[in-house]
Amino acid sequence: MTQPTKYVYDFSEGDKDQRDLLGGKGANLAEMANLGLPVPPGFVISTEACRAYLSAGKEPDGLVDEMSEHLDSLERAMGKQLGQPDDPLLVSVRSGAKFSMPGMMETVLNVGLNDESVAGLARKADGDERFAFDSYRRLLAMFGSTVLGVDPAAFHEALEDLKKERKTENDLDLDVDDLRELVATYKKQIKDHTGDDFPQEPRTQLDLAVRAVFDSWNTERAVLYRRQERIPGDLGTAVSVVSMVFGNGGMDSGTGVAFTRDPASGAQGVWGDYLQNAQGEDVVAGIRNTVPLADLEDIDKDSYDELMHIMQKLEEHYQDLCDIEFTVERGKLWMLQTRVGKRTAEAAFRIACQLVDQGLIDMDEAVRRVTGDQLTQLMFPRFDSDADRELIAKGMNASPGAAVGKAVFDSSTAVAWAERGDDVILVRRETNPDDLSGMVAARAILTSRGGKTSHAAVVARGMGRTCVCGAESLDVDVAQKQFVSRGGVTVSEGDVISIDGTTGEVFADEVPVVDSLVVRHFEGEDEVESDELVDAVQRVMAHADDARRLEVRANADTPDDAARARRFGARGIGLCRTEHMFLGKRKSLVEALIVAESSEEQEDALAELLPMQRDDLVGILESMDGLPVTIRLIDPPLHEFLPDLTELSVEVAIEDDRGDKSRRHHKLLGAVKRLHEQNPMLGLRGVRLGIVIPGLFAMQARAILEATAARLEAGGDPQPEIMIPLVATVQELELVKTDITRVAKEIEEEHGLDLSFKVGTMIELPRAVMASGEIAEQAEFFSYGTNDLTQMTWGFSRDDVEASFFSTYLEKGIFGVSPFESLDRDGVGQLIRHSVEKGRAARPDLHLGICGEHGGDPDSIHFFDEVGLDYVSCSPFRVPVARLEAGRAALMGRASD
Ligand code: PEP
Ligand code: MG
Repeated sequence: MTQPTKYVYDFSEGDKDQRDLLGGKGANLAEMANLGLPVPPGFVISTEACRAYLSAGKEPDGLVDEMSEHLDSLERAMGKQLGQPDDPLLVSVRSGAKFSMPGMMETVLNVGLNDESVAGLARKADGDERFAFDSYRRLLAMFGSTVLGVDPAAFHEALEDLKKERKTENDLDLDVDDLRELVATYKKQIKDHTGDDFPQEPRTQLDLAVRAVFDSWNTERAVLYRRQERIPGDLGTAVSVVSMVFGNGGMDSGTGVAFTRDPASGAQGVWGDYLQNAQGEDVVAGIRNTVPLADLEDIDKDSYDELMHIMQKLEEHYQDLCDIEFTVERGKLWMLQTRVGKRTAEAAFRIACQLVDQGLIDMDEAVRRVTGDQLTQLMFPRFDSDADRELIAKGMNASPGAAVGKAVFDSSTAVAWAERGDDVILVRRETNPDDLSGMVAARAILTSRGGKTSHAAVVARGMGRTCVCGAESLDVDVAQKQFVSRGGVTVSEGDVISIDGTTGEVFADEVPVVDSLVVRHFEGEDEVESDELVDAVQRVMAHADDARRLEVRANADTPDDAARARRFGARGIGLCRTEHMFLGKRKSLVEALIVAESSEEQEDALAELLPMQRDDLVGILESMDGLPVTIRLIDPPLHEFLPDLTELSVEVAIEDDRGDKSRRHHKLLGAVKRLHEQNPMLGLRGVRLGIVIPGLFAMQARAILEATAARLEAGGDPQPEIMIPLVATVQELELVKTDITRVAKEIEEEHGLDLSFKVGTMIELPRAVMASGEIAEQAEFFSYGTNDLTQMTWGFSRDDVEASFFSTYLEKGIFGVSPFESLDRDGVGQLIRHSVEKGRAARPDLHLGICGEHGGDPDSIHFFDEVGLDYVSCSPFRVPVARLEAGRAALMGRASD
């Protein structure tokens, strides 16, 4: 008999490694409870339950009963029942997925309160009715919006109206009668909106709240966030049901957030925000201004000392920066959440090395703790400190980077302006989850309220957006679409501002930006060596380089790019696209080749192209002296070098009309018509060109090998590899190889030299994958062209689909990320795996690389390591990222040994 699935877990049944099943929040609550920390009792409903609920549209069999059992034991432990009229047990119902999705899903607090138990709560709180009604109105607002679908703005407005009537801006000035009135208003709003009364039955409240949390997995903003963060759409969320502790019971209570280190810089110290007499999301929502956590020492020394002790214990236990949510209930500290905290890229590198120096982790682990995406962020430019600039405000340095853009004050404008190509900076008093689309579209975010743990700060850091928050000296008026600085500078919608997320500074107008210190370090500038961040990056990179098995090359077509790639650590070129040497002024020569009407004309055109191509290649081989340079013969369809058919036809027609017929134009038009294809990507390109146009590939082979000879004669060590594109069958390769061998012999004789070079092919067609065994017999190396291989495998036109239907595919979760961006492991990846096996079986020393865009994508690099490629090749700027990820891939493999 199969065991029924278990859906609900006590804290004692879980631990921090069960994030898959219990979500990050549930797993870490369990871990803290098991460490003996003060965690309010509760239980966790698993992600498995959520997945089952979402697929069936109803609670899976057994869930409701299991919840009843766990609720019973919670009630026994607490000595009271959910919503018990004279002394109610109240619970919080919180979402918590495997990966943190701050503010994206729902939470309902104070579940179990109703018209009767609110009086019991007041009696138990020493007759504090204000506290009881404050808790009730919070339940109504959260439940009303989250579970019953009432617009949260309606509740917010009612609260604001009441405060206006009472002539105050502070919720704490509302007395019990005001809160009673608010409760009545909220209940009426719920009735008006849903047609039903607010459910008074506590268990019904609990069941509906759990459902709402499950459903919140699929809200628009959660889907958008997951797409942005590349979190798979099918994980589901767990739900923690935890007995309530109250931070809103008076000034000896409060709620706060803390970090064991500064998540922006990595510095050790006391970091966080505290808010007296407040509950739940008040701190992160930035509704009232918080005090720095250090002030808690004066407010409540015992709780502060205990918190410091716990924070140290957590950091040692997790061996990492932890972030924490806590509540003080009438002088008693409770831990509500912890997790390994998000941090900026800069902090990630610094903290990893600090932890090594403290003996908490080793260098292998330090490399695993940072990511290629974080390194990319450190390579962003920063503001030129020598430039003239007008500082108009200083806020908190919530997420680093230097951003220049037009100020916009609402999300829809941010999206619309970004779509038309403007760089925008979203300016708000504070952000909330509804601002997500604007935050995604903006280059940076600026808020006037909220601390480093505010929604704006947390989300911006997660997305790698520059963010300055809590710039309190700015008076932001969203309705008027402007802000005014304390010094009187007015910035209106569309005005350009510059914000520095590393220092928290806000400048009027555009401030010039300069290369990042880390880039300057990669460029070999000595003066940056003493910088602590650069030092951390250098240590991590050196260790990643030692650890990695994959070699890293660059895609580069010019000597400058090649030289830069080499400075960034590339060990050769994996793809030099020779057609890029046919652009610019040389386009007319290619045109002459295409329109040639006789073999003499064709040979003349090729003869003119030859020296140019050779000279370019001499420069590239020189930049990469001693390292392999893979030079690919011309690939794209020839029409790309010709004018547009319609435009040229119109031009010719006008000329004909005027009577000044141009023979050249007529010839050109003939060629354009002849070469016109319905599907050029599937047409005359790659090796097919070399076979159809006599002399073309021979000319290119001559250019490569003459450049090689020139470098040898100059005392260099050129290591060319000639690569044939778009091969489908071995016969194509054999034909081209014959030409190359002939040309090589001629040049060897002309120069009296022995030339050493390899000939290999790209594997970018499914047929080539299937024929990899035969092809390997004729090829010394394969380079996977994953751009074309993805195009040809999915049947997606790489030039069109991303702009056409991909957004719908992403929305529907058909894939979480474009397969052109991150390798589709299950489809294209399996083809590569097959080809590797067949190729290596036929030729054991077959050298294998990848030169599609995926060569610089972290997740794809891990796959290429796994299937045993020898190298990845990517754009020069991504070379350090690829080195780091190749090191991480090797170390991750070892970690799981
Ligand atoms: C590829 O197809 O992956 C590739 C590198 O070639 P190109 O992008 O030039 O077609
Ligand atoms: Mg290609």
